[in-house]
Amino acid sequence: DAHISAVEALNPRLNAFITITADQARAQARAADAARAVGNAPALSGIPIAMKDLFCTEGVRTTAGSKILEPFIPPYESTVSARLKAAGAVMLGKANLDEFAMGSSNITSAYGAVENPWQRDDGAKLVPGGSSGGSAAAVAARMAMGATGTDTGGSIRQPASFTGIAGIKPTYGRCSRFGIVAFASSLDQAGPMARTVEDCAILLGAMSGFDERDSTSADRPVPDFRAACARGVQGLRIGIPREYRVDGMAPEIETLWQSGIDWLKRAGAEIIDVSLPHTKYGLPVYYIVAPAEASSNLARYDGVRFGARVDGADLIDLYERTRAAGFGAEVKRRIMIGTYVLSAGYYDAYYLRAQKVRALMLRDFNEAFATVDAILTPTAPSAAFAIGEKMDDPVTMYLNDVFTVPSNLAGVPAMSVPAGLDARGLPLGLQVIGRHFDEETVFAVSATLE
Ligand code: GLN
Repeated sequence: DAHISAVEALNPRLNAFITITADQARAQARAADAARAVGNAPALSGIPIAMKDLFCTEGVRTTAGSKILEPFIPPYESTVSARLKAAGAVMLGKANLDEFAMGSSNITSAYGAVENPWQRDDGAKLVPGGSSGGSAAAVAARMAMGATGTDTGGSIRQPASFTGIAGIKPTYGRCSRFGIVAFASSLDQAGPMARTVEDCAILLGAMSGFDERDSTSADRPVPDFRAACARGVQGLRIGIPREYRVDGMAPEIETLWQSGIDWLKRAGAEIIDVSLPHTKYGLPVYYIVAPAEASSNLARYDGVRFGARVDGADLIDLYERTRAAGFGAEVKRRIMIGTYVLSAGYYDAYYLRAQKVRALMLRDFNEAFATVDAILTPTAPSAAFAIGEKMDDPVTMYLNDVFTVPSNLAGVPAMSVPAGLDARGLPLGLQVIGRHFDEETVFAVSATLE
């Protein structure tokens, strides 16, 4: 009830939720109480969470932040949300996001921008980051104890950094993608967002595991992530990639990064300089591969099978009118980029070339992880920016993702930990990157930095 009251009080201002499911939440909470009364409470019994509105939830509208899915009520449940419910978690509602998870600001949502609960001294309203901005704002404003996010190029970690919370993108294949509205299938991963590293570990334990309904799901045992948080970093080798010292990084971020290095050294870790030489290709490769896959995934929104429809003179006209009215500007931009780089004549020059460079980036990580156990970097090149900033030129917005996209391209796990404040008192995150399927070390290092 306390969380539902917080949602009702704060959502009119913050716009963190697209759909609020207070009645279902109360029913779930009562069921959790009943289970507790007979000593049969599962791990997350009664814990109120926000569900990113990209996870299909049976009988509860799922919009993906798009007008084209405004009337869509899924007849089935995503694996991740089903597992959280089975673990006793209570869903408060569906969290706002950038349309189809495309963005770093939440400004592209067809349901309006989300406001960051943190405020700047000049009174500017700030973005919560994106695309999981509603999830981040809900947790940061204490409307929910945790949330689900998805991360294709930083959408869990960058909003976590902008709102002063923790969030992890697990290894590709750790969480099932079944029932998650697809953006870029070879990059998309679900993950938790919460106030602490340990809360993320508990949530991830419930969310992950093999699922035969996702062909890229990894058949691997789920370790005890929570226990890993207490391991410490004694004897661990932590890599500092020199290519992440990019031009234009805010001086406070440079300082925070150095503090992180000092904290880990003091806690017994060994700091080693490493090189990830293809880092500079991360953004161009990502902004070819992600739109290419998106253009293919979004072909299904044709107004025929599900979602919104605008009638036309014939079928082609119906497709065109439906898609023209249903998609926002950023989504259309991505579809155009994607179809361009996949078209005959350009495929080899752009898409195929990007896939080759992607393989080199994976090799960079594998070579670095031959000498270090984890890598430490900043999460984002700045703190939260004002709503309306960086809107004139999409490329300026894309630059936000410079530190986060490489781990999606390589499939390795990466976590953002709240680590400090900038000169204006806004939260900043540090990022810990680990080997494939070694989230345990990521949690150990992150818990030390927290
Ligand atoms: N900001 C990136 C993009 O716009 C990443 C989004 C994401 O991770 N879903 O594509």
